[in-house]
Amino acid sequence: MQSYAACVMPGARAPLEIRELPAPDLEPGAALLHTMYSEVCGTDVHLHHGRLDVPFPIVPGHVSVGVVAETRGKLSDIEGEAIREGDIVTFLDVHETCNACYHCLVAQQPTRCARRRVYGITYSANDGLLGGWAKAIWMKPGVKMIRLPKDLAPETFIGGGCGLVTALHAIDLADVRLGESVAVLGVGPVGQSLVALAALSGAIEVIAVGAPNDRLAFARRMGATDTLGLDRTSDDRVAAVRAATRSRGADVVIEASGSPDAVSQALDMVRDGGRVVVCGHYTDNGPVEIHPHWQINRKHVEIHGCWGSQYHHFHRAVELAARFGARVPWSEMVSGRYSLDHAADALAAVESRAAIKALIVP
Ligand SMILES: [Zn+2]
Ligand SMILES: [Zn+2]
Repeated sequence: MQSYAACVMPGARAPLEIRELPAPDLEPGAALLHTMYSEVCGTDVHLHHGRLDVPFPIVPGHVSVGVVAETRGKLSDIEGEAIREGDIVTFLDVHETCNACYHCLVAQQPTRCARRRVYGITYSANDGLLGGWAKAIWMKPGVKMIRLPKDLAPETFIGGGCGLVTALHAIDLADVRLGESVAVLGVGPVGQSLVALAALSGAIEVIAVGAPNDRLAFARRMGATDTLGLDRTSDDRVAAVRAATRSRGADVVIEASGSPDAVSQALDMVRDGGRVVVCGHYTDNGPVEIHPHWQINRKHVEIHGCWGSQYHHFHRAVELAARFGARVPWSEMVSGRYSLDHAADALAAVESRAAIKALIVP
């Protein structure tokens, strides 16, 4: 029986292992990808620390790019065009959203559907090749694949990757308008793409806040008009944002740092009546003190949480990467490439912030 090597995370803090997993018996509507790249995301670090409830052992890797190696039956994209062997695709990592529950049908917020499953996170390695840190990935029937356009290098899309898709969702929620000011707290992969998308949305002030300095310098290349380092006090950073916005504060502040304090700081940096989006807390990093009167109610602030992504976020991320990949240096965000048996080094590089973005190249 044919098998493929996969990097398995057996449990929280347990050493990664290479295991041979059986090739899936493709059912009608299924496909097999040969993996080109899979990303190492901050979420994978949280998974390895046991901070998310997942069915260990798992094959990590939720955002990936691969070549269609095998298909069963006729597969097509949303335009009705056939997905064929040899196509280079990415895919929506979220699968089995039920389209039958309150969140799917009434609230129309399917990222909170309780039945949704996510490649690389909520599937067990015992279920098969359902994560990207493997030589091959099993596309179950109904998984939404997106062909990368010919003029989009896979390295550009995966350089943006999960952070680009998350940033697109957050920018949608922030409803950034032409001529507005946007402050982005955090300069990891999500923050970098937020900076780029805020600039593409027509924001005229895009202030990136974070550390270290080389990431702030990179944020300028992504489109930041100004940067503020964490070597300045938080009061000083708030004052700098006010100084750049005629003392009003930023129209929009997006938190993508994972620091609880940054959520409070976002509320201090936003103008009265402005919008705050929180997308840096995919795991519990603890509480923070908020003064509801001063920071929310009296300021008339809108606050959005942002969880997961839908198909349209992935679809538009691919189109944006194709259209703007020459201007926005997503591909240069990748600072490390690792084979399957060096995935532990990739995790360590992301955790220590030595790498903005690390890729698994199986
Ligand atoms: Zn549902
Ligand atoms: Zn991710």
